[in-house]
Amino acid sequence: MSTYDEHLVIVGNGMAGHRLLETVLAHPHRPRHITILGDEPATAYNRILLSPWLAGDMDREALTLRHNDWYAAQGVSLIAGERVTAIDRQCRTLTTDQGRRLAYDRLVLATGSRAARPAVPGSDLDGIHAFRDLEDGERLASLADAGGRAVVIGGGLLGLEAAEGMRKRGMTVSVVHRAMHLMNRQLDPTAADMLATELRARGLEIHTGADLAAYAPDADGQRATGVVLSDGTTLAADCVVAAIGIVPNTTLAERAGLATARGIQVDAFMTTSDPNISALGECCEFEGTTYGLVEPIWRQAEVLAARLCGETPAPYRERPCATKLKVSGISLYAFGPIAPTSAHEVLTYHDPQHGDYRRLLLRDGVIDGAVLYGDTGDGPWYFQCALAGDDLSACRQALLFGASDARPLLEEVA
Ligand SMILES: Cc1cc2nc3c(=O)[nH]c(=O)nc-3n(C[C@H](O)[C@H](O)[C@H](O)COP(=O)(O)OP(=O)(O)OC[C@H]3O[C@@H](n4cnc5c(N)ncnc54)[C@H](O)[C@@H]3O)c2cc1C
Repeated sequence: MSTYDEHLVIVGNGMAGHRLLETVLAHPHRPRHITILGDEPATAYNRILLSPWLAGDMDREALTLRHNDWYAAQGVSLIAGERVTAIDRQCRTLTTDQGRRLAYDRLVLATGSRAARPAVPGSDLDGIHAFRDLEDGERLASLADAGGRAVVIGGGLLGLEAAEGMRKRGMTVSVVHRAMHLMNRQLDPTAADMLATELRARGLEIHTGADLAAYAPDADGQRATGVVLSDGTTLAADCVVAAIGIVPNTTLAERAGLATARGIQVDAFMTTSDPNISALGECCEFEGTTYGLVEPIWRQAEVLAARLCGETPAPYRERPCATKLKVSGISLYAFGPIAPTSAHEVLTYHDPQHGDYRRLLLRDGVIDGAVLYGDTGDGPWYFQCALAGDDLSACRQALLFGASDARPLLEEVA
């Protein structure tokens, strides 16, 4: 059977599943029969924009990627609000929680991940929330609109975006972060201090180097009324949000006997241990790496879409990702390693008065990592130079001032 006649079934109508669908549909040799299933009731939406939406910076409608009628117009069957519970690989069928049975020729798992929950006493109490999907966002928005106190556990990207969103809606918010500085996976201590100073000035309470010991229960032992830190500090809260990380959704794949480790294991063409089943996005694991940002997922979708349309694409390869924080009025941009090694030359520019900071890590004249806070306009240029492996030794003295100062020096030696 040609790929044109095969029934392609995609499980998960999130960012990866939807991107794959759009990419396949743009292909001249797309499979004729396509079904996409998702357990969320909404049609595909932009999960990234949950943060600005929670912060009140945009309308719910702006999140929608496609409406129902689009799927029909593309000849795609959309099954929303149904969860796939089992895959029979022998018969090539899957079953949903509503008893539906569906046959496939090619199956793609794009089941994403879920919020990790801190394993401390009280973690099964009510009143502990995640920030992962529309339902979470709606719940947090309505809690925040009622005012009161919130504690957000986790001072990474997601925790800070949730905390700022809830603060902007009127809550008094504390952030509890285990590491000694905020966003410790992306920022060095100087940039993180600048960020913490700005967030504190806006009214957030920030506790770094703070270890969560337990959730505090109410008198009935039903609801969390706050958190207890390992130094004995208790922070009271009407609502607790756990944003400490994500766990890939692998249960469906595991039950079907596919190879999994942290995620569903795939090769460089996104094929799982079953040649008829692929996986991409946050549910998959490639060469020991799992995912939490969309940039690599977009590249996975390109590779997989080409394969599903009968082509032989270039294999997927890992490459660095740049990070931004979606908090209005705060600009930061970072990529690469945080801690310099003895092989790195460190270039730093710091203008505390204007709130500007840049730190570049160079290895043999090539940018290996960057942290920018304040004026981040040159971030993408540094990132492109790093990806291209450009030797910037000739413009080293102007490098911290960005592309407009550094490029002419490079052109002189070219
Ligand atoms: C608030 C927030 C802000 C973010 N901001 C950024 C950002 O600024 N930049 C960035 O790069 N990334 C950001 N991310 C991460 C980004 O959203 C994810 O990397 C991306 O959504 C992963 O896509 P995915 O399809 O793998 O998973 P998801 O988007 O989670 O989609 C998986 C879908 O599969 C469904 N599903 C799971 N199991 C089943 C099943 N058995 N049956 C049917 N359906 C199932 C899930 O309900 C979900 O709808 C953010 C994430 C959040 C939560």
